[in-house]
Amino acid sequence: MNIGVLALQGAVAEHIRMLNKAGAQGTAIKRVEQLEKIDGLIIPGGESTTIGKLMREYHFIEALRAFSAKKKPIFGTCAGLILIAKEIVGQSEVHLGLMDIKVQRNAFGRQRESFEADLDIKGIDKAVRGVFIRAPLIVEVGDGVKVLSTYRDQIVAARQGHLLASSFHPELTDDHRMHAYFIEMARNSLSAVTKS
Ligand code: GLN
Repeated sequence: MNIGVLALQGAVAEHIRMLNKAGAQGTAIKRVEQLEKIDGLIIPGGESTTIGKLMREYHFIEALRAFSAKKKPIFGTCAGLILIAKEIVGQSEVHLGLMDIKVQRNAFGRQRESFEADLDIKGIDKAVRGVFIRAPLIVEVGDGVKVLSTYRDQIVAARQGHLLASSFHPELTDDHRMHAYFIEMARNSLSAVTKS
């Protein structure tokens, strides 16, 4: 499996390290042409406004909508979650607008800008340590969206078919199970394509 990490800004190297640890090849994606060679894409944390601006500048918006239309898996972590959402609280403009979720940026406020918590995640057997950094929350999900994890009754991970999103940073611990989960999604989507 060759999994790309969008490398315009943010936590790129850490994701590549985790992908390699989980048995896939991680590739930094800087140009739209590179999307043809990958089986899935992680959009990392960072600053969603900055990444969104660079995505527009480097023609990633249309290219990633086409990538997603082919059911190629996309995993948005933290700022990446904001970038794939169809709705952002208090903002009329969205970025990729792919996943049927409504998100609130910096949802934990100033007092709890960064913290860690053990999270139960559907599909992963033991708790995953979630690192939250000025994290967004998913405040509403559409019908086709499955909630994978909550923290204090608030949604911090969800999946809609080939789209995966987490409020936290799964690349900042030594635990690569979230990456393994995503690699499995990419493997399944690839075998679905080759069978049809
Ligand atoms: N607060 C950032 C944003 O709104 C996201 C933070 C992160 O990715 N760690 O873009």
